[in-house]
Amino acid sequence: MTAALYLARSEVSVAMVEKLSPGGQMLMTHLIENYPGFPEGIEGWKLADAMAAHLDHYAVDRIGDEVSALESVDGVHRLTIGEDVVEAKAVVLCSGARYKRGGHPR
Ligand SMILES: Cc1cc2nc3c(=O)[nH]c(=O)nc-3n(C[C@H](O)[C@H](O)[C@H](O)COP(=O)(O)OP(=O)(O)OC[C@H]3O[C@@H](n4cnc5c(N)ncnc54)[C@H](O)[C@@H]3O)c2cc1C
Repeated sequence: MTAALYLARSEVSVAMVEKLSPGGQMLMTHLIENYPGFPEGIEGWKLADAMAAHLDHYAVDRIGDEVSALESVDGVHRLTIGEDVVEAKAVVLCSGARYKRGGHPR
């Protein structure tokens, strides 16, 4: 959402693709205590909602689907999003991270 916000403010045509809900891991966090500006902490979903509402002020095309493939040929990036193929001049990947599992038996 931050990347989309910056680009939209620079008048770049932006589409933001999110397969779940905007906010990512923030939505799994009860209380975020290290985000500047919220000395008492803020619930993850509230911060995610505030960021999503901020984005509403800009012309960002929001696509609620999964990117299943990305192919780059001669400076054109082709993304498979659901059943569609979308072309873009540039792609910003913000797909997060997965926790490394310890491999211990449960
Ligand atoms: C329980 C918990 C508590 C935490 N507490 C804190 C805290 O208090 N303070 C702190 O600083 N950090 C905390 N973190 C870590 C913090 O949430 C992450 O570092 C941060 O959310 C990473 O942001 P991100 O945008 O890079 O990735 P993510 O939040 O993981 O977002 C990536 C997004 O990309 C989407 N996506 C991925 N692949 C695709 C695809 N192929 N197509 C479409 N969409 C896709 C996902 O659906 C996801 O919404 C916590 C994490 C957890 C799980």
